Amino acid sequence: MSNNLIEMDKRHFIHPTSSIQQQQKNGAKVIMEEGDGIYLKDITGKWYLDAVSSLWNVNIGHGREELAKAAAEQMKKMAFSSAFSTFSHEPAIRLAEKIASLTPEGLNAVFFTSGGSESNDSAVKLVRHYWKIQNRSERRKIISLKRGYHGVAAASTSVTGIPEFWGMAGHMMTDFIHVDTHYNSTTDQAIASLRQAIEESGPETVAAFFAEPIQGAGGVLIPPDDYFPRIRALCDDYGILFVADEVITGFGRTGKMFGIENWDVIPDVMTFAKGVTSGYFPLGGVVVSETIHNVFKEKSLGTLFHGFTYSGHPTGAAVALKNIEIMEQGQLVENSRLMGNRLLLGLKKVKESLEIVGDVRFVGLLGAVELVEEPVSNKRFAQDQHVTLKAIEALHERGVICRGVTYDNTDIICIAPPLIINQEQVDQLVEGVYEAILKVQQQLG
Ligand code: PLP
Repeated sequence: MSNNLIEMDKRHFIHPTSSIQQQQKNGAKVIMEEGDGIYLKDITGKWYLDAVSSLWNVNIGHGREELAKAAAEQMKKMAFSSAFSTFSHEPAIRLAEKIASLTPEGLNAVFFTSGGSESNDSAVKLVRHYWKIQNRSERRKIISLKRGYHGVAAASTSVTGIPEFWGMAGHMMTDFIHVDTHYNSTTDQAIASLRQAIEESGPETVAAFFAEPIQGAGGVLIPPDDYFPRIRALCDDYGILFVADEVITGFGRTGKMFGIENWDVIPDVMTFAKGVTSGYFPLGGVVVSETIHNVFKEKSLGTLFHGFTYSGHPTGAAVALKNIEIMEQGQLVENSRLMGNRLLLGLKKVKESLEIVGDVRFVGLLGAVELVEEPVSNKRFAQDQHVTLKAIEALHERGVICRGVTYDNTDIICIAPPLIINQEQVDQLVEGVYEAILKVQQQLG
């Protein structure tokens, strides 16, 4: 059974974000078949602690019957119907209203998509539309952060600030600019980099600045406390829109409903996906401010030629509503904060007893452990030592799934378990991380 599946996988399945050659050589390393809470089981019967919530998305954990039931009920009643033009339906209306009630003040109108990349592509088009209908078409440039990840669709690939993603199809789109991130830099330097890019581009040509409140796929890079307040002020000075990509940080991941709330900053636009349905249905969206919505209402004449077949999918909306209800009833945002603190404390103790652990950081249940050759000087390992790969493999052997990040010669282990994790499970995770890193340390001699 297992060999048969591996052969079929090789022959017919092109995996997302994967090495095709490695797949052909080694086959799929693990084939999952069942999920329960924070755990996943593969087809050999081995259980794993899913310490990155799969793709940072299974916020309420695996195997929730309530979501299966919500989907089945909606499918039986009306699996799908259009939201194009003047058609509407109750699940999407109710979800839009619910999301508007959760987002910071003033962000009240939602455009739905099927995921994060579509949400960021939609945000690029919507902010340009906002300027165009005010006779400011020259405002079309998009600035974002190096090491930022915003997806792989046409525009979102270009918003992404990780060069590895640009090369695949030969080039990226014009009018996208990347500035220095706050990682390993001062707020002054990071703000100066943005200011310089705005000045050099011509402030009147910039449409928006995009950033994740915490850069996830870039290695869980947490900004200094004054970073976003100063970003907000700078955007206001130049009249530039600020778009917060909440695809990972939204829906409780950081101990607040949305990540940007950790810094009391209100963006003009938010994009979301992942946690809104905990991955039980592909759904995302863009939330815009009243100011933007009012401009649309007044000046967006004729048809808005932008919409996906599945924008506002009724079954997806029903799943999202139930998912949010479960988060609220289980106080999972609060749990994320509390368990995140416990995880941080536990991993700081791990750092004390292991020589190769550098920075350990968490906001809620979004965090990372860095591995370094010398913690004091922050000296990095040589990339050919493949420290991250070794750590991810050692974790895997112990039944813990984490995500490794190695851009720019870093060795970062990202950790973001489902928000339902409890104290004993946090301790189990800490122990797994300790044992795995100890093994790598011993291997390195
Ligand atoms: N934005 C952020 C911050 C993400 O982390 C991701 C995916 O990991 C995306 C956008 C793209 O979302 P999707 O993979 O659903 O298209």
